[in-house]
Amino acid sequence: MSAIDGLPKLSDVIATHGLDAKKALGQNFLLDLNITQKIAKNAAPFDKCTVLEIGPGPGGLTRALLANGAQKLVVVERDERCLPALQEIAAHYPDRLTIIEGDALEFNPYEEIEGDFKIVANLPYNVATPLLTNWLGHEPWPERLLSMTLMFQKEVAERICAKVGDKHYGRLGVLCSLRTEAQILFNLSPQAFTPPPKVTSSVVHLVPKTTPIPCELSKLETITKSAFGQRRKMLRQSLKPIGGAELLEKAGIEGDRRAENLSLEEFIMLANSL
Ligand code: SAM
Repeated sequence: MSAIDGLPKLSDVIATHGLDAKKALGQNFLLDLNITQKIAKNAAPFDKCTVLEIGPGPGGLTRALLANGAQKLVVVERDERCLPALQEIAAHYPDRLTIIEGDALEFNPYEEIEGDFKIVANLPYNVATPLLTNWLGHEPWPERLLSMTLMFQKEVAERICAKVGDKHYGRLGVLCSLRTEAQILFNLSPQAFTPPPKVTSSVVHLVPKTTPIPCELSKLETITKSAFGQRRKMLRQSLKPIGGAELLEKAGIEGDRRAENLSLEEFIMLANSL
């Protein structure tokens, strides 16, 4: 029995339901209650919102979210083998857990969830970045999204939180800082997971900026794609296909600068000059 809810131990749940991890589904499970509790506590409080969890798997983080007060929890899981284990959790917490079987990439929280919501997940690494960029791309921003507390590979987490001048600064960092305040909460060694992945992981907490600087996202993406596509080149060269010197002059940015040294505000000036 587990200390937080009286449900069976996660290792027993995995054995009972034959949930041996599938690499293709990015299955690296968290069985340590201290870690799932830590993630849930960092994402709380949950009393005034729905919580969306992507990829609950055998339900370790799910149980921590419920034990920490989630009253309305929606989980989206692609692996049907996990459903019976999740149904046992739903029965233990009547009317609090909604289980959706499907691909999270096709699940639009703004269409499926009413009212404010938070997203909390130990994400499957193969789809983690597309999921995040989908969520960040929503217009109007941020509408009802209150926060995201998400596990990524450390290298991706560093790109998400990178600011101008950091070696990890790139397209993802610019997009994330346009729309959110992002910070790495803590790192986890591979041994924290079953089975252990090859890399270190990090939990990132992202809080949407409620009044971001106005900027058309598609234009910002056109700029950052060109600029970081050839990040070592001067901007007059890397931005040539989309306006080069003329565009830079309009935005008031010198052509001998490089993408890695351009602030968010300067990228926005370029996007707004396109
Ligand atoms: N939350 C569990 C935990 O922390 O132990 C499992 C996390 S595991 C890293 C990722 C989970 O996402 C797996 O359960 C996997 O089956 C699920 N998954 C993978 N791809 C998915 C997708 N496209 N949509 C929904 N779930 C997916």
